[in-house]
Amino acid sequence: MSSLFIYNEQQRQWIEKIGRLADEFQKTAASDDEHGRFPIEKIQVLRDSGYTALTVPKSHGGTGISVYDMLLFQERLARGDAPCALSIGWHVSVMGELGEGNSLDEGVFAFITEEVKQGAVINRAATEAKTGSPTRGGRPGTNAVKRNGKWIVNGRKTFTTMSQALDYFLVTAWVEEKETVGVFLIHKDEAGVSIEETWDMAAMRATGSHDLVLKQVTLDENKLVESLSGPRGKKPNGWLLHIPAVYLGIAQAARDYAVRFASEYSPNSLNGPIKEVPAVKKRIGEMELELLNARHFLFRAAQLYDDPERRPYLKSELGAAKHIVTNTAISVVDKAMRIVGAKSLERTNPLQRYYRDVRAGLHNPPMDDAVIQKLASEAFDK
Ligand SMILES: Cc1cc2nc3c(=O)[nH]c(=O)nc-3n(C[C@H](O)[C@H](O)[C@H](O)COP(=O)(O)OP(=O)(O)OC[C@H]3O[C@@H](n4cnc5c(N)ncnc54)[C@H](O)[C@@H]3O)c2cc1C
Repeated sequence: MSSLFIYNEQQRQWIEKIGRLADEFQKTAASDDEHGRFPIEKIQVLRDSGYTALTVPKSHGGTGISVYDMLLFQERLARGDAPCALSIGWHVSVMGELGEGNSLDEGVFAFITEEVKQGAVINRAATEAKTGSPTRGGRPGTNAVKRNGKWIVNGRKTFTTMSQALDYFLVTAWVEEKETVGVFLIHKDEAGVSIEETWDMAAMRATGSHDLVLKQVTLDENKLVESLSGPRGKKPNGWLLHIPAVYLGIAQAARDYAVRFASEYSPNSLNGPIKEVPAVKKRIGEMELELLNARHFLFRAAQLYDDPERRPYLKSELGAAKHIVTNTAISVVDKAMRIVGAKSLERTNPLQRYYRDVRAGLHNPPMDDAVIQKLASEAFDK
């Protein structure tokens, strides 16, 4: 990360710390990918480093970093190990989002922050096979009914990233008696909670995004912690920018690889490395331009969100940032592969892994079509 984006000592120190971890994690990223193995030990290292508690708000004894800070660290982590960054990104962003104002009971939120300060890791389990992306508004098949003063929850959640490392799940369910979607705080050790190892994707293989299965899970009344029809449901959520930060990290890693390759690869048909070939130079320049565009838009959107006076004026900037960065990242990885040539397809070459991983960004929220539709609607708003 260039110093241009670093404003203070806390950011500098964390960038260095996260950089060291990212370089270490990178050494096993290819093998985790190959075996579709979730590296639970890396999550433990992040816990021990204090990273998982960074977004606990200052009011609750945490560091209370901003969205901008989170993006700096997430992008750096992703350059070394994108699946690991995406995984822990859900946790840090959920805590950041809850910490800036939520519909949780203060006692519940204080309990969660204490757990997170002790190393607990949390994520939302919102997706289901039949509803698809929860952003489309489908009603969850996971169901909660009240019996004898307890909630009984049954259902199956797909895409539960980091499932094997999570201590708490924030599970969306249809609440029969309220006829609304609610969110339940469920500990991994509750009776009836299990993980079914279903995750076998071509992209982000090492995120452990397995199915969470809930069978007659019996919960105290106060475990219904949020209502999605409440105020949080409507507010823009800048913490979701942890997603494009990860894909920007992949693009940067692909660009770095291609630039190094172009400086070193010297076939005997040329008198020097391929970096002197006009077509290669053009691609490198284009990659730089695309990365500048994406990075500046992303970090500016985060700054606007972090500024309480500017935030109310934000419209589609957050979704646009995700759209621009994700699609740019796909384009940059493509260019990097064209520079490197057929070697980019060798199974031991990191570019083929970046090529697969970067595609996952299209299927993280918000989806491209939703961003474009919203921009079009805003064009007609007065
Ligand atoms: C690597 C990875 C990690 C993830 N981690 C998590 C996680 O931790 N927790 C979690 O809850 N989820 C997670 N998700 C799930 C993610 O948020 C989406 O819910 C999931 O990818 C399904 O999205 P989809 O667009 O493929 O599915 P769908 O919504 O089923 O869409 C499939 C297709 O149908 C179209 N479509 C469907 N419904 C509509 C509609 N109403 N209007 C218009 N078009 C529609 C879409 O445009 C698309 O073309 C993760 C996903 C990935 C890829």
